[in-house]
Amino acid sequence: MSLKIYNSISSQKEEFIPIVKGHAGMYVCGPTVYSDVHIGNCRTFVSFDMIYRYLLYLGYKVRYVRNITDVGHLEGDLDEGEDKISKKARLEQLEPMEVVQRYTNGFHHMMRLFNTLDPSIEPRATGHILEQIELVQKIIDHGYAYVVDGSVYFDTVKLIREADIYGKLSGRKVEELLVETRELKKQDEKRSSADFAIWIKAEENHLLRWNAPWSEGFPGWHLECSVMSTRYLGERFDIHGGGNDLKFPHHENEIAQHFGACGTTPCNYWIHTNMLLMNGRKMSKSEGNYITPEQLFTGESEHVTKAYSPMTVRFFFLQAHYGSTLDLSDASLSAAEKGYRRLFEAYHTLEKLSSEIIKSEKPLALELEDGIKSAFEEMDDDFNVPKSLARLFEMCATINKMADGQLNVDDAGQQALDMARNGFRTLLTDIYGLSDESATGTDDHMNQLDGLMQLVIDMRQQARQNKDWAASDKIRDTLAAIDIELKDGKEGTKWSIGNK
Ligand code: AMP
Ligand code: ZN
Repeated sequence: MSLKIYNSISSQKEEFIPIVKGHAGMYVCGPTVYSDVHIGNCRTFVSFDMIYRYLLYLGYKVRYVRNITDVGHLEGDLDEGEDKISKKARLEQLEPMEVVQRYTNGFHHMMRLFNTLDPSIEPRATGHILEQIELVQKIIDHGYAYVVDGSVYFDTVKLIREADIYGKLSGRKVEELLVETRELKKQDEKRSSADFAIWIKAEENHLLRWNAPWSEGFPGWHLECSVMSTRYLGERFDIHGGGNDLKFPHHENEIAQHFGACGTTPCNYWIHTNMLLMNGRKMSKSEGNYITPEQLFTGESEHVTKAYSPMTVRFFFLQAHYGSTLDLSDASLSAAEKGYRRLFEAYHTLEKLSSEIIKSEKPLALELEDGIKSAFEEMDDDFNVPKSLARLFEMCATINKMADGQLNVDDAGQQALDMARNGFRTLLTDIYGLSDESATGTDDHMNQLDGLMQLVIDMRQQARQNKDWAASDKIRDTLAAIDIELKDGKEGTKWSIGNK
């Protein structure tokens, strides 16, 4: 089966045919680094990491470009308002690039915790100002932009007259875009309300500014992605991605600019991830409806009853298709934790199983082989991880039955066992991108600690039997000082780590 991708521009699943055979170019809009990423942003980047991993698994030589937005993204996502990074710099009395560095580092740290692969190239918008100025000039030269008092606007009306492309991605009606009026200062400089700024003349107190033929100013937000995608992937590339809240205006305007400059649309496939919700509403910083990854990892939030590990959260993301919304709740995270453990346990059980028979033709062998085959095939259907996971879950019961002798491993045969084990490993670690937290020591350390505590509890018990109260009190008090509590009950003494 060949890979099918749901293309947001045609609203259809289409076979993936790369421009250059064996290669795949993918551009994904990266974060605007003015604050810590929230867990919704992480969902989008984890989804593209899974897509990247699957393309690699299929054998494509992938160039994955994910940018860092460090200029031009204004509050409200339109042509008015303060630059998000400048505002943060002003509030915290920092250099704008200090803000950028701090949150870029934080973003990278988070991506590492979620076990995402680094992109092939991670360009920054401020590193490509010259090319952005050149692109503005090109669009003006082609007649698709005009200058008003040092700012440059894209002529959307001309585009609409000449090509039937504007509004297609977001499903917006051109007539509605044209009559939409906003109470914005810059609105009266535009010939039409649908026009948008590609170069903005900086006001006196604006921090991030560069010299350009039209004014000292800064590029419009959408321009950076047009420049960085084509610079590294060519004028026409395979896949462009981002969260679906970027369809309008960001991606729609990218399509417009690209047409103005190059006379084509930028890419063959648009992939949009759906939003992470909390309490049924989009998770969003500006709405105050968000939770940070740290809060989830420490359990320090009113939204969760306990801490959830990065891999539990990654698994939670993967349980929904990237194109569906996903609602974060304590119950669904807790279910994800169980599911994640169950799969890795099944994989470890497979590692231990072996058969004397090399190849079996019995139904058990076929069941294992079909299970793995279909788990891979589901991935070809628009990266359908939830269905692929469901196939593996179906296999878990069979694997456990082989382990406890209810089913005979020799009916499976070594070949089918090997295929199942390799399939589990490839899917879990290479494609879903899950690392095995129990193997990295967390569970092992807990077991060691528990063993040690049993020894301490036994020694205290011994001291009490010998009426050595000083020794037994010393043990309890020393443990209390490091926040370990002992509770004596009918079933012996239990220990727990407190919440100091
Ligand atoms: P930003 O830093 O605001 O440009 O966002 C970075 C990425 O996160 C973009 O692709 C957004 O579409 C995506 N994003 C923002 N909010 C959410 C959310 N609640 N769920 C999933 N993705 C989101
Ligand atoms: Zn972008």
